[in-house]
Amino acid sequence: MSSFVWCHGPTCHKSHTQDRIRGVKGSKVLRTRKVAQTQWNQNSFYSKFCSQGCYNAFANTHMQEITAIAPRTEALETPIEVTKVQDIDWGNRNYIRTEIKTIDNG
Ligand SMILES: [Zn+2]
Repeated sequence: MSSFVWCHGPTCHKSHTQDRIRGVKGSKVLRTRKVAQTQWNQNSFYSKFCSQGCYNAFANTHMQEITAIAPRTEALETPIEVTKVQDIDWGNRNYIRTEIKTIDNG
């Protein structure tokens, strides 16, 4: 027993791939792909989209609605501490790298 949803990509049914072909000779169609619901995709967009391309097409088509869900009206900031650290690279040469540490204020 497996469950699935149809891919939410707005143009999934227009991609020319053999696995999308359905129907009999003379009345064939390209059909939206099924997306199996598994434990591996349950918490990702891959549970609703068959590919990165379909996800991008959906996001580009519905960008205004998506960003309206959680509008960003001001910048967010993460407190950090920046230090210069002496280190040795893969060629055993000294160099100075910039280390950024997040300051956890609880
Ligand atoms: Zn798709």
